[in-house]
Amino acid sequence: MAVDGPAAAGKTTASLRLARAFGMSYLESGRAYRVLAYEALRNNINPTDQAAMLALCAAVGGRSRAELLGLNRYTSGELRTTEVGRVVSAVAKIAELRTRVTNTLRAWAAGNRRSIVEGRDIGTVVFPSAALKFYLTASVETRAARRVAQEESGTYQEVLADVLRRDQADLTRAASPLRQAPDAILIDTTTLTVDQVVDRMSHRCRD
Ligand code: C5P
Repeated sequence: MAVDGPAAAGKTTASLRLARAFGMSYLESGRAYRVLAYEALRNNINPTDQAAMLALCAAVGGRSRAELLGLNRYTSGELRTTEVGRVVSAVAKIAELRTRVTNTLRAWAAGNRRSIVEGRDIGTVVFPSAALKFYLTASVETRAARRVAQEESGTYQEVLADVLRRDQADLTRAASPLRQAPDAILIDTTTLTVDQVVDRMSHRCRD
């Protein structure tokens, strides 16, 4: 199952709940880009330097597949900092890096048949033939307000500016821009509770 949509649309919360309810494995693909952004910052690598970023990807990917995705080596606290958030869009712009992440995600999914993968290009590029696709969205104001309530870091105005900047970067990058797949089910979560979102998705899973 593919779950895509802009930043802070509620993808992670809903996907985790669904994965638990249906006994599916879950993968947050943004982690792979965040791991690379985190390692670039730690190693003083300019995230817009493509050659250096590809070398970094090869070095990180030299370890196990799960580690490249940051499944067990990195904590959410390390990957969800403001600093990582600031550079991750530049990392996600690099086409060759996206190809490598895509290949890693596909290899992971081959070993996890019943799975939910969440991201920006899962239903369009990574798994275009996924059995079920969702595109979750919400107004930018709602997304920013939810993030402020969740993370309790930054003012509403700062978080709103960050969400707008990330939307712009995700929608306008040349490589795999954020798009709703033609066969994805659109859910606008602006006025919905988490339970309502999960209910709507669950109904489709049972169909
Ligand atoms: O989902 P999350 O906010 O953790 O993703 C971090 C960043 O990684 C996003 O802002 C987006 O630019 C990028 N990303 C991507 N493609 C994906 C998942 C995430 O470009 N499939």
